[in-house]
Amino acid sequence: MFVTMKEMLADAQQKHYALPAFDVSNYEMLRAVLDVCEEERSPALLMAIPADMEGRGMPLLTGMAQAAARTYSVPVCFHLDHATNMDLIRRAAEMGFSSVMIDGSSLPFEENAAITAEVVQFAHAKGLTVEAELGHVGNALVGNEKDTVLDEDPEQTLTDPAEVVRFIERTDVDALAVAIGTAHGVYAKTPTLRIDRLDQITAVCDRPLVLHGGSGTPEDQLKTAIAHGVTKINIYSDVVAAMNAGLKSKINHLGNPATWPIFLFEEAQENMRALIRDRIHMCGSNGRA
Ligand SMILES: [Zn+2]
Repeated sequence: MFVTMKEMLADAQQKHYALPAFDVSNYEMLRAVLDVCEEERSPALLMAIPADMEGRGMPLLTGMAQAAARTYSVPVCFHLDHATNMDLIRRAAEMGFSSVMIDGSSLPFEENAAITAEVVQFAHAKGLTVEAELGHVGNALVGNEKDTVLDEDPEQTLTDPAEVVRFIERTDVDALAVAIGTAHGVYAKTPTLRIDRLDQITAVCDRPLVLHGGSGTPEDQLKTAIAHGVTKINIYSDVVAAMNAGLKSKINHLGNPATWPIFLFEEAQENMRALIRDRIHMCGSNGRA
């Protein structure tokens, strides 16, 4: 059985550490995250992105995560990342996810609050944790793009502390993703986090705060963000880049065109595991499970 994210984040918030939350797209990523979480005794906060939920993606990935929860001795949470509609959230709840994010961050405040409140009412009745986003964390280089794009200016969409208070009152959401200067994907230029803004938010918000776009953000800034109240750091691009680099290096030296995947992914696994271990230690979630 999955544990809820609320449970995991409450412990982290109380004891002043953070949880690295890893989006997993396939068996190799899932395996790397869980093996290292168990070795490091870190709770495993697994997430899935909507792009991987298409077709039979949701039941298959959920099935693997459910098997993981029975197989590993650390607590496992399975969280749907960046859902933008109720349909996907209903399917996730039926499938057994223990936590969902409703991302209304591209909507005006009132609409974001309304859809978040609707999701919270639905999800809480089923025992699921809900994360929402206020302000908007934009995109740097993501997905299948190959050209460097200019990062969106994060200053334009920072979280407004005054809105946070109203948003929590309206929605009773369990965790809140905030925009304080990060972006999703691979940065074109190094971000500078607005810790002053984070402090203003922490001062008025008792809910665990989530930082999206953890990949590529300098470690000293992430550590400062944790010290100033961030409880969950989302990491995807860094793990994918580690996997891709390992595959790229290996694939150039294949002796056998039918090299088995277990050998093909050797370097990818080493790279991902090193990165995941490093992020766990940075967050201080090791030894907490
Ligand atoms: Zn995100």
